[in-house]
Amino acid sequence: MLNDSEDITNLAAAWVERDAAVVWHGFTQMATYESNSPIIVERAEGRELIDVDGHRYLDAISSLWVTTLGHRVPELDAALRAQIDLVGHSTLLGNGNRTTIEFAEALAKVVPVKQPHFLFASDGAAAVEQALKIAFQFWTNQGITQRQSYLAFGGAYHGDTLGSLSVGAGGFGTEIFDPLRFGVLRAPGFEDPNCIPVACALIAEHANELAAVIIEPLVQGAAGMQMRPAAEFAALGEACAEHDVLLICDEVATGFGRTGKMFASEQCGLHPDLMAIGKGITGGYLPLAATVANERVYQAFLGEDLGERTLYHGHSYSGNPLAAAVALAHLELFTSLDVLTKVNERAAQLEQLLDQHIAGLPAVRSIRQQGLMVGVELAPPEGAVRWGRKVTAESVSRGVLIRPLGDVMVLMPILTSTAEEITRIVLTLAESIVAVTQSEQQQVETSRVESSQDHAADE
Ligand SMILES: *Cc1c(COP(=O)(O)O)cnc(C)c1O
Repeated sequence: MLNDSEDITNLAAAWVERDAAVVWHGFTQMATYESNSPIIVERAEGRELIDVDGHRYLDAISSLWVTTLGHRVPELDAALRAQIDLVGHSTLLGNGNRTTIEFAEALAKVVPVKQPHFLFASDGAAAVEQALKIAFQFWTNQGITQRQSYLAFGGAYHGDTLGSLSVGAGGFGTEIFDPLRFGVLRAPGFEDPNCIPVACALIAEHANELAAVIIEPLVQGAAGMQMRPAAEFAALGEACAEHDVLLICDEVATGFGRTGKMFASEQCGLHPDLMAIGKGITGGYLPLAATVANERVYQAFLGEDLGERTLYHGHSYSGNPLAAAVALAHLELFTSLDVLTKVNERAAQLEQLLDQHIAGLPAVRSIRQQGLMVGVELAPPEGAVRWGRKVTAESVSRGVLIRPLGDVMVLMPILTSTAEEITRIVLTLAESIVAVTQSEQQQVETSRVESSQDHAADE
């Protein structure tokens, strides 16, 4: 037995070594990657990821916010297999694909955009990039050339390509790219209760220069789950309409049921001119994203064949039919499994458990929740460093996979998590916070004892 488990441990270590030798991981310092105990996933079942050793981890971050209905969902697996027997990929540049059309028709029925048209891409950042370029060209196509700027929010995150990075508020070590970012008008972040009124005033003042306003409706995810009440957002939509500035809603994180409705814009009473969607669009199976444009925006691009009103932008894997097939089956499951009802039930349970087990911990500053998006902000004692990382390591060692944003512990349970799994996530987080608090206190005490012993020796 002992020998077996030794072999297995060696197996995991060997995979980490092979990984580090050839795979460059995003947002990761590769020089220390191996020493941070990465998990090498081999397969999954339901809401659990299984590593090369056979260890199981409850996926409490939905594989970085993409997984909606779990891993290896039979209907999604079947949709993918069936599409493989038709065609893996065919280009959408100048031609069409039957499965992609079927998916776009189904998606058109659920997005909060009027008479929507979909420009597909593979990642959220590309969907944002497309939205920015469409908003820009929307005006120039009509002979209006001074509307070249954007209004964005403090704390915003819209992706890592240069355009999406420019409308984003920076941070996460991306300051290095500041010289490459184009300037934008910046409203305060969601932690400022006046951010929406200030944004509305900026829109009124700068309407003539603005191509569009870009916002993450309801929740700024990467900012550490910063939230504003839904009722505040309607004013932003009204200001955009009044001053004829396009509204882009980035629902890459909030879309597909995460906040308790299919899209957060619905809760906010917003009908964006452009919307970026991604992450949950295929249930977390395949890289697919889309820029959604309303009829007015779309019409502004119609003109002569090969004319200058055309949108000269497109990606090789745009509308990939394998991804579209899974995305279509995923939309159907949202209805047949009544996913939104489940999300709201689990969200209510989660709120209660967080209140009961986490809110009262001295190391917790605040808890922010909208649907199944949660940020637990830690209050590390003075001098304590990397608490987010330490609590994460404790949780992972207890078999619950999380990933923090600085000292904000993020919980993004899979939308179909069971009541037992939600309980396990909260109790594990509570235990992990307590464990880190205690070990930190012990260290402080030990160093106090040591320093008083040093003193005694001195005397
Ligand atoms: C994740 C995210 C993006 C970027 O999506 P990628 O698929 O990682 O490029 C953009 N906007 C928001 C709000 C996101 O959460």
